[in-house]
Amino acid sequence: MNSEQLFEKAKEYTPGGVHSPVRSFKGLHTTPRFMKKANGAFITDEEDKEYIDFCMSFGPLILGHKNQAVLEKAKEAMENGWSFGAAEKYSLELAQYIVDRIDHIEKVRFMNSGTEAVMTAIRLARGATGKNKILKFNGCYHGHMDQMLIKAGSGLAGEAEASSKGVTPSTAEDTLVCELGDLEEVKNIFKNHSDIAAIFIEPLPANNGLLPQSLEYLKGLRQICDEHNALLVFDEVISGFRTSFGGMAQDTGITPDIVTYGKVIGGGFPVGAVAGKKEVMDLLAPVGGVYQAGTLSANPVAMVAGLATLKQLDDNFYANLKKNTDSIVGIFNEWFAQSEFSDYKIVQQASLFWMVPGGAPSNASQIPANLLERFNRLFEVLLNKGIYLSPNGYEIGFVSAAHNESVQEELKQRLWS
Ligand SMILES: *Cc1c(COP(=O)(O)O)cnc(C)c1O
Repeated sequence: MNSEQLFEKAKEYTPGGVHSPVRSFKGLHTTPRFMKKANGAFITDEEDKEYIDFCMSFGPLILGHKNQAVLEKAKEAMENGWSFGAAEKYSLELAQYIVDRIDHIEKVRFMNSGTEAVMTAIRLARGATGKNKILKFNGCYHGHMDQMLIKAGSGLAGEAEASSKGVTPSTAEDTLVCELGDLEEVKNIFKNHSDIAAIFIEPLPANNGLLPQSLEYLKGLRQICDEHNALLVFDEVISGFRTSFGGMAQDTGITPDIVTYGKVIGGGFPVGAVAGKKEVMDLLAPVGGVYQAGTLSANPVAMVAGLATLKQLDDNFYANLKKNTDSIVGIFNEWFAQSEFSDYKIVQQASLFWMVPGGAPSNASQIPANLLERFNRLFEVLLNKGIYLSPNGYEIGFVSAAHNESVQEELKQRLWS
């Protein structure tokens, strides 16, 4: 069966034929490609068409697909069994490695996804402060727990409503929403609400386009939290181990109270983590009174894969990754200039990039209204050339270590073919 037939079949058995909505190519003119294998920078569909992959599983695969060291370690670990539901050494090694290399992290709790990590961070922040509300930003994504499926409302500043069916109004009441980049708005909200446990932010917003924020702004948030006895939570599920080993906290020198990780930390296996200073982390059960648990948490195969991934991320690695990305962005820019997409710009930070018509927006409200319409065509043109982008205009592109010079040459050939 080809992808089209598989998609029809999958829709009979699964809502929309997929297990995460963006995979359905909703809004695009083409049907999702069913992928069967991947290697390095390439991914291959059921019809044996091979694409240069810039989605890279939405971020975890910083080394590229099927990195050999990760493969070997994961296989080795499997020989010893793959779930113990007991204390084990694999997670100790990964936790210790992270704590040793990141100054602002003293303890880590592993779980299975970024969503779980943020969900736990919300409970932890409430437990630590005894306050109920959380503040988030329009244009940041934090996973699919009820408390974060909230968008700005039409009433008072900060007041919000559910962005998904099935989220209760009382849950929505406990989440406040601001526009990115406006410190005054955040200050005002804190004036009007004494009950804010934490500010949650992607320090590099990368889920609604790429919307880098200024250092002053992020420092301002730190200061507001300090003044109001609220916690600052950096959701580094994308940026952690990506912009640098210590992520945006390291890059900005700002110390958050809690950090959430996901994606790169598991090297493509399901791992999420909450991390921070001892005093906060020890509020988690079984030491403290904030409950959190998981049957498959700290799965040994995933822990070993995560460690085998992180061990490859030294300064040299990040320098090379940046070089790959600069070169790829340069190639796309050159092609854009000569194509029907000549108004496109690329926003780039580290190994992340986002293609956007017009300028570089700094918050969600500035993103051009015709983004998706334009993306539709761009995506299809590139797909036909054997280049696979994340299948939604608001999703960003990811470059890996495998996107090396020979892949860059291949990209040129495909673009100008
Ligand atoms: C991907 C992502 C999440 C959710 O992680 P899942 O593993 O998909 O549950 C949360 N926060 C940020 C910043 C993310 O990029």
